[in-house]
Formats: sequence, C-alpha cells, structure tokens
Amino acid sequence: MAEATVIDGKAVAAELRARVAAETALLKERHGVTPGLAVVLVGDDPASRVYVANKAKQTVEAGMASFEHRLSAATPQDELIALVRQFNADPTVDGILVQLPLPGPLDEAAVIATIDPDKDVDGLHVISTGRLWSGEEGLAPCTPVGCLILLKRTLGELKGKRALVLGRSRLVGKPLAALLLGEHCTVTMAHSRTADLAEECRRAEILVAAVGKARMVKGDWIRPGATVIDVGINRVPAPELGEGKTRLVGDVDYESAVKVAGAITPVPGGVGPMTIACLLRNTLIAACRRRALPEPAI
Ligand code: NDP
Repeated sequence: MAEATVIDGKAVAAELRARVAAETALLKERHGVTPGLAVVLVGDDPASRVYVANKAKQTVEAGMASFEHRLSAATPQDELIALVRQFNADPTVDGILVQLPLPGPLDEAAVIATIDPDKDVDGLHVISTGRLWSGEEGLAPCTPVGCLILLKRTLGELKGKRALVLGRSRLVGKPLAALLLGEHCTVTMAHSRTADLAEECRRAEILVAAVGKARMVKGDWIRPGATVIDVGINRVPAPELGEGKTRLVGDVDYESAVKVAGAITPVPGGVGPMTIACLLRNTLIAACRRRALPEPAI
C-alpha cells in the first residue's frame, strides 16, 4: 500500500491567513472597519510569551489592530476582570483572548465568564459552548476549527463519515466532536476510560488524536485509508540529534501510521500552524457579525 498523503498544515494556514488579510483589507475599504484583537498575558511563562508574540505579529500582518497587554503574575483577580470589561466595552476590540493557563490563584473560569461571548474568539465561554452544541451562530475554539478545515480540504464532504475523537478536553476534543456532528459525521468520543481503544480507533474513517501522550496511536490502530489528524504536541528526548536534545512529536506514531493511513498531519507542521490562522479568522468573523455586516466565506 502507498504511503499516506501528508496534509501540509503550514501551507493551508498560510493560505487561510492570506484570505483573512484580503477580506480584512476589503472590510476596511468598504466599511472603514479595522478588526481588533486584544490579547492578555498574565505572568511570564516562556511558552505563553512566545505564543502571544506570534499572535500579535500575525494579527498585524493580517492588517488587524493588535492590543497586547502584559500583566504581572501578581495581578489581582479584580484588576484582570476590570481589564476584560474594558475590552468588552471598547468598540475597537472585536476579539478578546486571555492566554491560558493563568498563574496560581487567578480563577480562569471567572475570567473567561467575563468575556463578551460575541468577542470570545477563543470560544471557551459557556455561552460559546452552548451555541456550538445547539447549532446556533457563535465562535468555536481555534484548534478544533483548524482540524475541521484540514479535514474538509482533504476529504471534501464529511457527511456520513465515521469519526473518532480521541480526547475529551474543553479546548479540543469536545468542541471538535460538536463541529464534526455539525458536518453530519457519526461521532464517537474516546478517552482514558474507553474500553478497547485500539478497536474503537480501527473503526474510524476519520481519526483525531488529542491526548497529549507521545506516539500513543500506533499504525495497527488505524483503519487502512483513514484520515488521521494529530493534535498532540509532545516534547521527547532526541539523542539522535545530540546529547540533551529534544524534538516535538504528536500523539500518533507517525512512522507506523503513515504506512496505513490515507492522509495524515505531521507534527510539527500539521494542526499547530492552523490555530493562530483560525484565531484571526474568528476575529474577522466577530468584527463582521458585531456590525451586522456580511460574513466572508473563509
Ligand atoms: P487534555 O490533557 O486537556 O486532555 C487530554 C484528553 O486525553 C483527556 O480527555 C484524557 O481523557 C485523554 N487521555 C489521556 N490519556 C489517555 C489515554 N491513555 N487513553 C485515552 N485517552 C487519554 O489535553 P488537550 O486536549 O488540551 O491537548 C491534547 C494535546 O493536544 C496535547 O498534546 C496538547 O499539547 C495538544 N494541543 C495542541 C494544540 C495545537 O495548536 N496544535 C492546541 C491545544 C492542544 P480523560 O478525560 O478521561 O482524562
């Protein structure tokens, strides 16, 4: 059997960002609107700092306004809530993202609950979750939206496909299951208490792994010809690159999976680059909806 087609998430994300930039330019030209994204970083977690810097850079590259707020790890809860309320009231802000995790004593749920759901570009507010599961217009979390775009690009029509989502987090697994249901897939959700996980995986025509366990899904768990989306980002030792070196791998054992799957996302370069592109897409959509302007089909 031929090796799987490799799904180039980096290229799809670049294309999506270019479409968002083109639509942003049109919005400015036709309606004088510049979408704005406010990102709040509390504390100085190095990984979060890199994410926030990348988000700000790509926001500006797409022609949008970026409002970046860095607060000390000692920021009191009421100060953070007040800042979010300020963004809610600011007409130049269309999207609000509070970078998670928040340090120590801060209450993430309370902070997310303060965000105006119409500006909830991370899609984590309970109202966004409710809208997603009820099939109402709303904003869905960026990584699952990125997975869905990659699946549609690879398979076209998803209707009737048997999909298995491995992982049931609020951020990835659950919203992705809702999105796949919305596309009329037959969806199974698997997790750490699933009996005979390998057998469940083998039934799936679409297999999405979002567990956070390096190379857990083996080639012989995959149905021949299935489309495999690997959300996992795991850092593992890589002595082959030199002493003390590490590298990123997914939740799927790529080497064995690529021999069985029909199409597969690599790690890195698969789902990862889609997340920020989808954040920009959500911000543009929020900017249009808030002004009752026609939404671009992106
Ligand atoms: P969580 O830790 O929140 O959730 C992991 C899920 O996997 C849980 O539902 C858990 O089950 C399940 N799980 C854990 N171990 C097993 C097991 N041995 N067998 C079956 N199921 C298991 O992770 P996230 O959803 O936030 O992230 C998942 C992965 O995706 C991580 O590697 C993360 O780094 C990556 N990620 C990548 C992003 C990107 O942009 N590409 C964005 C977000 C995440 P249970 O509920 O029963 O505990």
